[in-house]
Order: sequence, then C-alpha cells, then structure tokens
Amino acid sequence: MILGDSSPNDGSDEAINGAGLYIHVPFCRSKCAYCAFPSTTLFPLERRQAWQAAVLSELAKELTQDKTGCWPLFTTLYVGGGTPSLLLPDELSNLLLAVKPVLHPQAEITLEANPESLSESWLKVAQDHGVTRLSLGIQSFDAQVRQAVGRLSSQRDLERARNLLENVWHGQFSLDLILGLPFQTPERQLKDAQIALSWQAHHLSAYPLSWEKGTLLTKKFRESEAQDLAWDEIRTLWQENGYDWYEVANFARQGAQCQHNRGYWEQRPYLGLGSGAVTTYPVQHSATGEVFWRRRTFGTDPTLFSTQQEIEILTPRDCRKEALLLGLRLSTGLSRAQWERCSALPWEQVLSDTLQRFASWFQDTYHTLTLKPEVRCWQDELLRQAFAELDVDESRR
Ligand code: SF4
Repeated sequence: MILGDSSPNDGSDEAINGAGLYIHVPFCRSKCAYCAFPSTTLFPLERRQAWQAAVLSELAKELTQDKTGCWPLFTTLYVGGGTPSLLLPDELSNLLLAVKPVLHPQAEITLEANPESLSESWLKVAQDHGVTRLSLGIQSFDAQVRQAVGRLSSQRDLERARNLLENVWHGQFSLDLILGLPFQTPERQLKDAQIALSWQAHHLSAYPLSWEKGTLLTKKFRESEAQDLAWDEIRTLWQENGYDWYEVANFARQGAQCQHNRGYWEQRPYLGLGSGAVTTYPVQHSATGEVFWRRRTFGTDPTLFSTQQEIEILTPRDCRKEALLLGLRLSTGLSRAQWERCSALPWEQVLSDTLQRFASWFQDTYHTLTLKPEVRCWQDELLRQAFAELDVDESRR
C-alpha cells in the first residue's frame, strides 16, 4: 500500500486509513427533483443480476491486473447510490459475501438506505455480514418539502424506519439532510435539525442544496427562489448536543466519523465500481518526489459502465489544489504529510501571499493548515487567491 497503512480500527476516529472501495447501486424507485446521480427506475431481476455481475467482474479485473499497488485490502467499503436498500436481502448478501475477501477484517462498511425501502430482513442481512454503519437519506422531515422534490417517503415510512433503527439495528447510523430545499425556510431547516437530534444518530450530515443543471429542480423552480440557510443555528445546535463538527457538512459523536469519506478528504486512494463511479490512485513520482494521480470515471450506463471510461491525469499542482479544497473543509485541517505528498516545497513558500493576506483566518499554519471555525464555510475568496498563487508558482518552475 502506497499511502497510509492499514491498522485495525480501535474505535477511535483516526484508526483506519488505507484505500477505500465504493460500489454504486444505480436503482431508484423514482427520480428526485434535485438529483444528478446516475440511476435508473427500470430494474427487473435480469438487470439487477447483470449489474451485480458487472460490478464483481470489474472488481476481479482490477485486483488481478492491479497496477496501483494500493489494493487490496480495502479498509473501508461504501455502498451508495442510487438506493442500496432496493436490493433484495439475497442480492445484498451475495454482494457482501463476494467483496468480503478484499476487505480488511475490521473495515468500516457503510450502506446507504432510504426510509421507505428499509426492511427488517435487509437490516438483518447487513448486520450478519458485518456492516458497521447505515447512512439514511432523510433530506427533510417536513412532508411538504419532501413532496416538492419527489421524495417518496411518507411520515409513516419515517416512523417505521426509526423503529427499525431502534429495535433491529445494532450498528452506527447517520441521518442525512439537505438544507435550502423548496419551501424549506430557515425555520423549517432548524426544525429538521431538531428532529434529527431526537433520533439519537451517531452521525449527522447537512449539505446545502446544489442546483445541478438538467435536473427537474431547475425546471420546476428558479434558483433565485433558493432559501436562506439556517447554517449557523444548526451548527450551534448540533455541537451543543455533543456532535463534533469535523467537516463542513458533517457532524459525529466520538468514534463515529465516516472513515470512508475521510479517505476522500485526505486524498487516500479509492476504487469506485458502477455507473459514474470514480477511481483515484497515485501512479508515479516526479523528479522531486511529487505524486501524479490517475483518475478514472466510469460511464453512466447501469450495466455497461466499464465500456465507457474517462481517464484524467492529475499533476502535482492539481493535487495541491485538491489538497487545499478538501483539507480546509476539515476541523483537523490539511496535514503537512498530505501536503508533502504533492509538493516538494512547503506551503510557507508556495502560498506565502495567501497565508499573509488571510493570516487572521487560520488557527494553525505550523503543523497543519486549519481554518478557524467561523470562516470554515466561507473559503471561496481564499481558495481563489491560493489557486492563482499555485498557478504562478507552477509557471516559475
Ligand atoms: S433516491 Fe437518491 S439517488 Fe435516487 S433519485 Fe433520489 S436522491 Fe437520487
């Protein structure tokens, strides 16, 4: 393994830091208005079987031809979508059994689920196969808001899901909200955040609504109608109730951070399988020891995704930009070790103007580059200046 090592998960938030595996389940009962993820509402048995065969065959191909030196063993698995809770219990069982040999014995395993398709038998299969956390897509507890964007779950579905989590599920779970949906005024956003607290989740996330081109949302609503965000109030509420604000949109109780997503933010290698899935890993070093990365994005066809691929090579400068973009989102900031993988020169030298101009924004620039909490959500101006400085630095080399 090139980056990080795979030490057993001792329950702390830093224990596991190897490569990640992502599997995209491309099936949804209907299309939510804001959603730009690749998914299909047509998934008869043959198509589901063809999808699983394609995913497993691509995994086998990756492992036998492994040119990365990064896999296996994967220290995290994230099964997302789409709607993984639409897989039948048998299908879920087959998938988890098939990938088990490539997972670290103490890997973090996350499944995404939607409240309306969560079932006792599906949860029991997940539990029996060592799934450690669920990520439940609530988006909003407000029925009018959910209806406006085509979410299928009823109030009764939410209550049923809550009962299943309380009475059947023994692992960790996250509730995922979106902020700023149509009709979701700041007061309603805060109400959503309060209800989320009452579920006693291990992890909470709240992403601002993203107005993606070509979605139903942009056809039905004007972006100028976007709601203000109750961001400061929600952050305060959740932090006061014992959740650590560890990433701009993510909050966790002790030991419940999502290690898989930390892998993205800390630029660890990951293998993505399924439509639209992305794979990124280091491929070579420059003369100064800086790393080039290779990024592959699969096509959007649910079963023929691997026949359409786009490859991109990320230069060390691209990686430096990503390191800043991702690392500054974390409460622990961008580490020097991460920076040194993509830059032979220290940030004091490469980003001197930015660090001087924005000095009051940082709480640490010595061991890490860490922003103060009050500016962590407002980085655009800082990043614009930093990227411009990185471009000038590149042209001088
Ligand atoms: S269920 Fe999730 S993946 Fe499917 S359409 Fe809705 S938001 Fe997109």
